[in-house]
Amino acid sequence: MPAIYDCLVLGLGPAGASFARLAPPSLSLCCLSEKERPHGKPCGGLLAPDAQKELALQGLCLPKELLVSPQIFAVHTLDLCSGQSRLYPRSYVNLDRPRFDAWLRSLIPSRVEVREGRAVDVRRGEDGLFYVTYRAGGQEQELIARSLVGADGGASLVRRRLFPGREGRSFVCFQQGFAAGETRPFYACIFDHKTSPVCSWALCKDGVLLFGGAFPAERCRQRFEEQKARLRALGWKLDAPLYGHGCPIRCPAGNADFCLGENNVHLLGEAAGFVSPSSLEGISSALRSGRLLAEAYASDPAHVHEAYVRLTAPLRRRLLLKLLKRPFMYDPLLRRLVLFSGLSALSLPGSAARPDACPLPFSPEPASDRA
Ligand SMILES: Cc1cc2nc3c(=O)[nH]c(=O)nc-3n(C[C@H](O)[C@H](O)[C@H](O)COP(=O)(O)OP(=O)(O)OC[C@H]3O[C@@H](n4cnc5c(N)ncnc54)[C@H](O)[C@@H]3O)c2cc1C
Repeated sequence: MPAIYDCLVLGLGPAGASFARLAPPSLSLCCLSEKERPHGKPCGGLLAPDAQKELALQGLCLPKELLVSPQIFAVHTLDLCSGQSRLYPRSYVNLDRPRFDAWLRSLIPSRVEVREGRAVDVRRGEDGLFYVTYRAGGQEQELIARSLVGADGGASLVRRRLFPGREGRSFVCFQQGFAAGETRPFYACIFDHKTSPVCSWALCKDGVLLFGGAFPAERCRQRFEEQKARLRALGWKLDAPLYGHGCPIRCPAGNADFCLGENNVHLLGEAAGFVSPSSLEGISSALRSGRLLAEAYASDPAHVHEAYVRLTAPLRRRLLLKLLKRPFMYDPLLRRLVLFSGLSALSLPGSAARPDACPLPFSPEPASDRA
């Protein structure tokens, strides 16, 4: 007879790894996650203050090996359509995302069984059990469990198979790495409503410049290339990427875009739609939802899903509140006013009188700086 686990976790990103680490020891738990891709999941790898707080709540401190250079204290906001630019104080931890994921996985207790493989099918049998077929080493195998945790990210197989028609709103993300060359280390958030209704980003990591953005599915690759061409025209060096990758990102536009699962299926992190609709930040919500599901299992084993829905209500409210911020970020006129006002921005020499006079951070260093 094949083993029947109490719970099977599909996906070991921040959400699945947090749940696997914190789940009650009485639960027989098996985790399945695919082999890490060479540059990991496409991600800016910035830990926002909410993610820093969540790590602190979980009693975790980051080992210095996860950090990359430079650390970031401000975001340069550029509006490609109006030409406006401002510098806002923000505090992020800049980290190596593949190393961060590997570190979270290394904290999973040895009692938890961890398997490597790509799930290709998920179904609920007539007996109420969950059957997950996965590929590993060229062979197909099957895992069986009484409950299933979908922590398999934006393209969640669990959500697609078990909750068809509830995929929610998503964008397609592309991210490329470039040799940083002469450019100054910086973090920029780029708005360009000609190519995307959401922001793009550029930041340095240990001598590599990451440039990425999220685009509507229709003509997504073409829009990404068009945006790069618009930045190249401003002097950005975005030729000959060292590598590139892409994936979908779920981004809620309202309460209906969240899907937490039902009965014995629980969705965590990005699979549930827990991503900030204003900044696309999602690591904090992934970590938090993993912890909350573990708390639900510990507090009410007979009604886990009801407890999980209750415990995640403040998280969903917090994400929906961020929708209020969206018009000020994404409506071209309101954004123009915000940038023009300079409200809460750092003032750079020469930029106070004319917001468009703020120097583009990506220009090569002036000759005087190099000297
Ligand atoms: C381009 C981009 C940039 C981003 N930048 C930031 C940022 O700077 N800061 C931030 O806070 N958030 C950022 N986000 C959001 C953040 O990356 C996600 O919200 C977060 O990773 C979600 O964590 P998760 O554990 O839910 O899913 P993931 O991190 O996506 O983990 C899912 C795991 O499941 C595995 N998996 C998926 N399908 C299968 C399968 N069929 N079989 C086996 N395993 C599977 C994957 O390999 C992966 O290990 C960004 C997202 C994108 C797309």
